[in-house]
Amino acid sequence: MSNLEINSLVKHYGKHEALHGLSLDVSGNEFVVFVGPSGCGKSTFLRTIAGLEDITSGSISIDGEPINDLEPDQRGVAMVFQNYALYPHMSVAQNMGFALRMAGVPKDKIKEKVDAAAKVLKLEPYLERRPADLSGGQRQRVAIGRAIVRDPKVFLFDEPLSNLDADLRAHMRLEVIKLHRQQKAISIYVTHDQVEAMTMADKIVVMRDGYIEQIGSPLELYNEPINQFVAGFLGTPKMNFLPAMVKATEGDKLAVSVLGTNVEAQLKPDHNLSVNIGDNLTVGVRANGWVQDENGIKGGLVHAEQLGSETVMFVALPQDNQVTLVRPGQHQFEPSENLSISPDPSKLHLFDSEGNSLPVQRVYGASQ
Ligand code: ADP
Repeated sequence: MSNLEINSLVKHYGKHEALHGLSLDVSGNEFVVFVGPSGCGKSTFLRTIAGLEDITSGSISIDGEPINDLEPDQRGVAMVFQNYALYPHMSVAQNMGFALRMAGVPKDKIKEKVDAAAKVLKLEPYLERRPADLSGGQRQRVAIGRAIVRDPKVFLFDEPLSNLDADLRAHMRLEVIKLHRQQKAISIYVTHDQVEAMTMADKIVVMRDGYIEQIGSPLELYNEPINQFVAGFLGTPKMNFLPAMVKATEGDKLAVSVLGTNVEAQLKPDHNLSVNIGDNLTVGVRANGWVQDENGIKGGLVHAEQLGSETVMFVALPQDNQVTLVRPGQHQFEPSENLSISPDPSKLHLFDSEGNSLPVQRVYGASQ
């Protein structure tokens, strides 16, 4: 079991500060995903761990040893790139063994390692082929094999599946996870795709503008997002946001008005929230967080997507708002059918004017 510890990592490109003092602790054999919109600093963060970028200040340690001044090949890390970066004139076996050959490892040892990796990756029939004669998925497996032969303590993946079509991507996600479980190493995986983060990670690191917004398991972040950014970034369909105003507050109850309909939120027992009547808030409702309510918000169906196992509805609400609802099963609707809906109080999210989550008590689990 390895341990990766990053403390107050700052990275400047000239005068531009790209990473603003990031700290992260990864222990055991966790699969960690860095996720966030384009330009938030995910690749830069990964590349500083790989040693492909110098850091301006802070520290990176593996198993208690600082590695930030070591050369990339001395760090005990191995990186898998999006564009595979395979040598076209070398066979699969030569590509996989290249780093070991450069490090002066004896030939029979290289063969042993390449054969073992090929077995794990089901590449044995292709060892003598050139990369041009492989499919995209096979090439990506070779790129992963090249990392495996080095027995790294930390695997670093930079959007490795982005070039693959949707079916193959879903298949390779599972392959990468199975492989991670076999390798008994830390994996750090960069993606802008929140579905990849939700489906693959033990621990998600959500980034924005060079900062870490929140760290947690997929369900911790889904259930308890720290702010509106994280709430809106994770989850499919995206969380709906509507303006809300405080109508009344007493003890651990908070009543808000949402487009003219009153909703009562239950606050957490230990909260120390103080809000005033008339304060503007934002209410967050996931697509599965609505109930039919004849006293609710009146809306008109814009479109219903029949996915077979569930029905996704787009509903126009007053004041130019549009929201998404999802219902399990198959439901037939007339075009522009009228609906009357309310947020389910047990699944409600509330955010203050700065976008910070308010301490609302929610009910999770199988009923969601
Ligand atoms: P992401 O991987 O999340 O898309 P990056 O890590 O590539 O984001 O970039 C983070 C920020 O650092 C961006 O503002 C980007 O323009 C800047 N940046 C990245 N690489 C360089 C570089 N080599 N020189 C100058 N600025 C860079």
